[in-house]
Amino acid sequence: MNSQLQNNAKMIRTRFAPSPTGFLHIGGARTALFNWLLAKRHGGEFLLRIEDTDRARSTQDAIDAILDGLSWMGLDWTGDAISQFARATRHAEVAYALLEGGHAFKCYCSPDEVQALRDEAFAAGRALRSPWRDRDPADAPADTAFTVRFKAPDTDVLLEDAVQGQVRWAAKEFDDLILLRSDGNPTYNLAVVVDDHDMEITHIVRGDDHLVNAGRQSQIYDAMGWDRPVFAHVPLIHGQDGKKLSKRHGALGAEAYRDMGYLPEGLRNYLLRLGWSHGDQELFSDAEAIAAFDLAGLNKAPARMDIDKLNHINGHHLARADDARLVELVMPFLDGLEDRIPQVDITQERLLAAMPALKSRAATLEELAGQSYFLLKPRPFRIEGKAAKPLKDDEARARLYRLFTELGHVKAWTEDALSNALKEFAEAEEVGFGKIGQPLRAALTGGAPAPDLALVMTLIGRDEALARIKDQMTPATPA
Ligand code: GLU
Repeated sequence: MNSQLQNNAKMIRTRFAPSPTGFLHIGGARTALFNWLLAKRHGGEFLLRIEDTDRARSTQDAIDAILDGLSWMGLDWTGDAISQFARATRHAEVAYALLEGGHAFKCYCSPDEVQALRDEAFAAGRALRSPWRDRDPADAPADTAFTVRFKAPDTDVLLEDAVQGQVRWAAKEFDDLILLRSDGNPTYNLAVVVDDHDMEITHIVRGDDHLVNAGRQSQIYDAMGWDRPVFAHVPLIHGQDGKKLSKRHGALGAEAYRDMGYLPEGLRNYLLRLGWSHGDQELFSDAEAIAAFDLAGLNKAPARMDIDKLNHINGHHLARADDARLVELVMPFLDGLEDRIPQVDITQERLLAAMPALKSRAATLEELAGQSYFLLKPRPFRIEGKAAKPLKDDEARARLYRLFTELGHVKAWTEDALSNALKEFAEAEEVGFGKIGQPLRAALTGGAPAPDLALVMTLIGRDEALARIKDQMTPATPA
């Protein structure tokens, strides 16, 4: 392995460096996750830097949205989030250090001159070189604004990327990059390099839309005599149609997935597998992910968003989640249900008792809410449409009455005992189980999705089960 990919001696420090766009983009969430895992894997640190130099966009709300998204995802960072904007003085200091070291120069070209030079360079198939790179600074015009430009080296740029392999750019592809604008403000690539250096970042995993920046940034590292970090540029996430993920594809922010009822651990596991693989293992606990994560498993081919897979993975984590936590998490999703008992304590009690049976039946919290609805319907039910059909016939209602009496004798209200009681009742009535099961299901659930009937009766409890049956039965007409 190339020595640049090792950086063994130092503690691993990674970072996530989002620009505050107003939400945590799902691609950003994945980038953060990879960096977080890499740090955890090696007992290192994961840092957060907010690239807030665009003052108009960097509102507190936009920053909070990123912090909230990361917190919800469970991606905790070391120390306070670092503001890039707040470090402008330090960025300028490094620009001047480059100037002193002969790696940068003051450029006095006017914007029009720069445009003309750029056109000329473009026609010649190379990037812009300012005439001031070779001029004597003593020739500088008085009282003229200048930019500080990087003196692009005349050597090719080589980058050893942990995902992309060896990448090479010809020297002529990189221009004399502006480091400080004429108002003294630092530019992006300078700020990123200075921050990453000062934060002692050893590994940078990020989207491959930054690959060219890595080339430019490498030049700055080299000019300063600083060690380059290990770079790993991962392909961006694509939509199901194979195109780059965009607004067209719907949900783009982590919070949208939260609102659809995904668990953070489900989304983490899914995003981990979206661009990283470890044999054909699909399901990972956090401990497994931390133990297995490595840069070598990052894929070079772009991954496609696949909601079915996300549902499958989330369902797996949902089935393993703590019952009390799920009760709390599912509560807001109950608001989408039309009519349910108003008492929060009874709701929570019933949900908690039923959770072990219910949680393996849903892919998301929203589905879990739907699967829990039978527990929470207020009596007596309005049973309508298809669900009412099994109760249309008088015989069925009369049979419910007889069943009510039988169930009244069941001593231990357990799933086994109830299951036996139902079987025995069907035998005694000399009818197929459907003749009993369908009206009973209608009476117990009002048509809401629900598990097996014996289980339903244990989940809602004896009194509620008998009361629901009573609501729908018709006592036999006395002979
Ligand atoms: N702020 C950049 C972005 O949001 C990331 C820069 C970096 O990771 O170096 O795309």
